[in-house]
Amino acid sequence: MTSDGPQPREHPYIWVTWMPRLLSGNHHCEWASWFKAQHDGKTWRRAHRDFEPTMWALNHKALLREERKRLEADGATVRVERQNQFHLRGWHATLSGMPDLVSLKDGQVTIHDLKSGEPHEHHAIQVMLYMWAFPLARREYGGLPISGRVVYPDHVVEAPESAVDQAFVNRAVDLIKTLAGEEPPPRTPSASECVFCEITSDDCPERVETPPPEEETDLF
Ligand code: SF4
Repeated sequence: MTSDGPQPREHPYIWVTWMPRLLSGNHHCEWASWFKAQHDGKTWRRAHRDFEPTMWALNHKALLREERKRLEADGATVRVERQNQFHLRGWHATLSGMPDLVSLKDGQVTIHDLKSGEPHEHHAIQVMLYMWAFPLARREYGGLPISGRVVYPDHVVEAPESAVDQAFVNRAVDLIKTLAGEEPPPRTPSASECVFCEITSDDCPERVETPPPEEETDLF
């Protein structure tokens, strides 16, 4: 962090992981991702998170190792995390991401995203974003059939290639243009969303720290 405050980037930079909650309607504050897209991440202070990420990382790593072993035993070539990192530079922004596992077997590419916590609909959207952007950025996979899987400890959600249709791509591109635009989208502060937000009240004066008080009624 610099003492000069958040420094603007020359070219907006967006992580795929910022998009699924906004696309699914699980989160509403586009301003948070707009701010992160527009500013150098080393120049602004991040909010402390209460949860301990160590267990999450251990569970995720164990699931990843297990799934990789299973895929390789089945004859697939598998690439892991940083091997899959991509940067897709467009006119408006650079889109980056890092699928957990990408397997190739008999000419079929599969993106696998591993989730050790509770299932959410935005998990499948993250895989669909990878299915769209990854082969555009990593040309060695371009033109091959591609599908996706969200792998939970006890079940799998499949994302067929047909899920990534033109309507989905249009929504993703619209959101990228919003986050990359010069005009900031409105903030939508709420206790339940701000608690998960990395942006402090230094940069977001509308940050909500406490939930609204509970009122009583005798109507029901
Ligand atoms: S603190 Fe709340 S209002 Fe501010 S950017 Fe984050 S989510 Fe939006």
